[in-house]
Amino acid sequence: MIKAVLFDLDNTLLDFLTFKKETARAAATAMVKQGLPATEVQAYGKIFSVYDEKGIEYQKTFYEVVKQYDLEINLAEKIQQAGILAYLQRKSEVLRPYPTVKPTLKKLREKGLKLGIISDAPRNKAWQRLIITGLENEFGFVITHSDTQEFKPHPSAFILALKKLGVLPDAVLFVGDNPSRDIKGAKAVGMRTCLARYGQMFKSNDVADYEIEKFEDLLKAIR
Ligand SMILES: [Mg+2]
Repeated sequence: MIKAVLFDLDNTLLDFLTFKKETARAAATAMVKQGLPATEVQAYGKIFSVYDEKGIEYQKTFYEVVKQYDLEINLAEKIQQAGILAYLQRKSEVLRPYPTVKPTLKKLREKGLKLGIISDAPRNKAWQRLIITGLENEFGFVITHSDTQEFKPHPSAFILALKKLGVLPDAVLFVGDNPSRDIKGAKAVGMRTCLARYGQMFKSNDVADYEIEKFEDLLKAIR
C-alpha cells in the first residue's frame, strides 16, 4: 500500500521547458535592445547553446553569451544585466504548475499520503520556483541537489527521503519526467515509479510501473 508520494520538480510539477524558452526569449530581446550586435533569434540560439553545453541550471549564462562578442566592458555589463533582469521579470510571469497540480496534491493529502520533493535543482532555485508557483507549502520536505551534491539517479537523495518518511521503499511512489534519472533512481532503491509523460523529453529503456498523461491521472495510479 502506498503511504507516500515523492515528486521530481521541473517538468513534473511545473512546466520548466516553457519557462526556460520564454525567459530566454525575453532576455534575448532585452540584450539586443541594449546593443548586443545580434538578432533576437541569434541571441536566443546563443542562450540555448550555453544551456546545452553547461547545463540548463548554469548560473552565468548571460555572461557567457555577451563574452562571445568582445564588447567594451561597460557596454557588456549593461547588456548582461539587461538580460538578467528581463529573465527574472519574465520568470515570475511564466512559471506555472501544470494544470490540476494543486487540487490533485490536496486530494492526495486527504488520502493521508505524505508528500515530498526530490529535485536536482539547487536549493535556492527550487524554493524560488515553489514560491512563484504557489507550491511552497504543499510538501513535507524538499530535497535538492544542495543536500546531497549528487544528481539522480544517484541513490543518496532517495535514501535520504526514505529516512525522512520512515516507511519501506515499496510504500513510496516516485513521480518524475526523466526515465534515466527519476525512474531509474527510484527503482534502484525499491520505490514504485510513475512516469510523467506530459513532461518527458528524453527516451530511455527505464520503464516505470505507471505512466500518466495528465497530472490528475496520478489519483487513478494510486487507487
Ligand atoms: Mg524533471
